[in-house]
Amino acid sequence: MARYTGPVCRLCRREGEKLFLKGERCYTDKCAISRRASAPGQHGKGRKKLSEYGLQLRAKQKARRYYGVLEGQFEKYFDMATRKQGMAGENLLKILESRFDNIVYRSGMADSRKEARQLVRHNHFVLNGKKANIPSILLKPGDVIAVAEKSKTLDKIKNIIENNSSRVKPKWLDVDKDNMVSKVVELPNREDIDINIEEHLIVELYSK
Ligand code: SF4
Repeated sequence: MARYTGPVCRLCRREGEKLFLKGERCYTDKCAISRRASAPGQHGKGRKKLSEYGLQLRAKQKARRYYGVLEGQFEKYFDMATRKQGMAGENLLKILESRFDNIVYRSGMADSRKEARQLVRHNHFVLNGKKANIPSILLKPGDVIAVAEKSKTLDKIKNIIENNSSRVKPKWLDVDKDNMVSKVVELPNREDIDINIEEHLIVELYSK
């Protein structure tokens, strides 16, 4: 499966804010945004005021990078979002939040979405008690993810869950840290999604 393999801190610097793509490091003063917030490249420091199109493009890129989704998949999600009832922008964020890898991350069972993707691909999780190793599966209310039985004793997994136990878990998930299980209680509302994105700009971009 294709994925971005370049330097991820560069993506945060491009967006001018933390996208939390590297796990623990993002919370330390080693974070590239804390040290140097300018955009990458020779002209990074002299940013010009963005055009309307530029703002829309940046909003879309930020959302893609935040969730680690490639362009084609993102367009498919947008298409799905427009077919659902309600506001397309909010629907889009809900779809992104319902991805298997995002829910592993939100449950505190991975340090970053990238790590969540790897863990899912390597069969460290089950979905509703069955083997599932596709990070893009979209979960729905009632679905339960759990660390696979064979992985529960791995130090790596135990450490991740322990280290993330103080991270605030979203109220739309019911996380049982001790049993390494998380249930989707409901899909989030916009106010439950703590990302700084103006989703209406993405809708405007795709509506051209
Ligand atoms: Fe972004 Fe994390 Fe790198 Fe900071 S450390 S720039 S938040 S990926």
